[in-house]
Amino acid sequence: MSKNEELFARAQRHIPGGVNSPVRAFRSVGGTPCFFERALGARVWDADGREYIDYVGSWGPMIVGHSHPEVLQAVYERAARGLSFGAPTGLEVEMADLLVELVPSMDMVRLTSSGTEATMSAIRLARGHTGRDKIIKFEGCYHGHGDSLLVKAGSGALTFGQPSSAGVPAELAALTLVLDYNDTQQLADTFARIGHEIAAIIVEPVVGNMNLIAPRAEFLQAMRDLCTQHGAVLIFDEVMTGFRVALGGAQALYGITPDLSTFGKVIGGGLPVGAFGGRREIMEKLAPLGPVYQAGTLSGNPVAVAAGLATLGLIREPGFHERLAATTTTLVTGLGDVASSHGVVFSAQAVGGMFGLYFRATAPQTYAEVMECDKEAFNRFFHAMLDEGVYFAPSAFEAGFVSAAHGAAEIEATLAAADRVFAQMAR
Ligand code: PMP
Repeated sequence: MSKNEELFARAQRHIPGGVNSPVRAFRSVGGTPCFFERALGARVWDADGREYIDYVGSWGPMIVGHSHPEVLQAVYERAARGLSFGAPTGLEVEMADLLVELVPSMDMVRLTSSGTEATMSAIRLARGHTGRDKIIKFEGCYHGHGDSLLVKAGSGALTFGQPSSAGVPAELAALTLVLDYNDTQQLADTFARIGHEIAAIIVEPVVGNMNLIAPRAEFLQAMRDLCTQHGAVLIFDEVMTGFRVALGGAQALYGITPDLSTFGKVIGGGLPVGAFGGRREIMEKLAPLGPVYQAGTLSGNPVAVAAGLATLGLIREPGFHERLAATTTTLVTGLGDVASSHGVVFSAQAVGGMFGLYFRATAPQTYAEVMECDKEAFNRFFHAMLDEGVYFAPSAFEAGFVSAAHGAAEIEATLAAADRVFAQMAR
């Protein structure tokens, strides 16, 4: 039995499914999850001492690479001065000033300890601000595991949602309308019908939770226009895209100004930090200024914020995102070329430092098209690449992530491995 297998067997005794977050269990791809022991730059090592080129990067936070010396130094220095106070610190002020500077749509911001808390809080704030209860989300978008957001489409278009998890009250799910991503007409029709009842739209401006889906240009603009016309709050969930697809997030890339935004991942540099922020008029409705309650014992934790500030300091260097996007593009273009040289039906695309791999002839634009991808082919590819020492997300429905530590050597090694794997798959 390998160390990974031994740990997984032990883990399942006292941790449900052996993991503290479901996708880690390899249920979708099958097999034994890698239990990681250490990481450096673009590489991770598992309990059996095997080395992998890592395209998960803790699902996004590790944008400067693992164990970056400047980030580690900031963490060590802060930790030596106290781990948590439950009282304000100057670091949080620095973080708020920086976030507001880098994301022009935000006048004010509040820190949380996870992306889930950020989206939950943004929804409550939008409801409190508008005095309305109904929200719109899109099928296939994930916004953390808050009750109002674990909702799937009801039967037929324009019906309110059903819980996508046991334990979410149907009465609450019924307040979440689930529409089709990239369907501008359906969105416009919905607002024409019940626009005055909608508190908020929440959307991943580039979706990274049903593989990667890029927005059609008119889709995000229509959202902005409809929310303005109908007094609804537009929430961009940039937990994944923030500081990754561009320094100012997807809103900077596409030139759309949301009312509220949510962040996580990169702003904590690998430690637990989330944030939500936006227009002053809305943010001033938060306690202690206003009637919308939101709080957290560890919110703005100094060690986590220190890691985030060090990371943001590195990624705001001129040219950082251009280089990251260029590396990611080289990867996806190379994978596409290798697949086509072996006649494997495959496509791939990048947005900034995020990418999608699809066992389908062209990149999907809708949830229905994502569902057409050949999941079995992905699973074969995933395991064969893992055997080659390349760690992609263990699911056909997740985006991938590149870091600044991924250089020519890692990309070349990945493409050489993919060449062998696609050759095998073509046989
Ligand atoms: N929103 C988006 C877009 C996400 O991708 C995620 C997590 N992958 C979340 C919210 C939830 O963040 P967390 O896991 O930190 O609670």
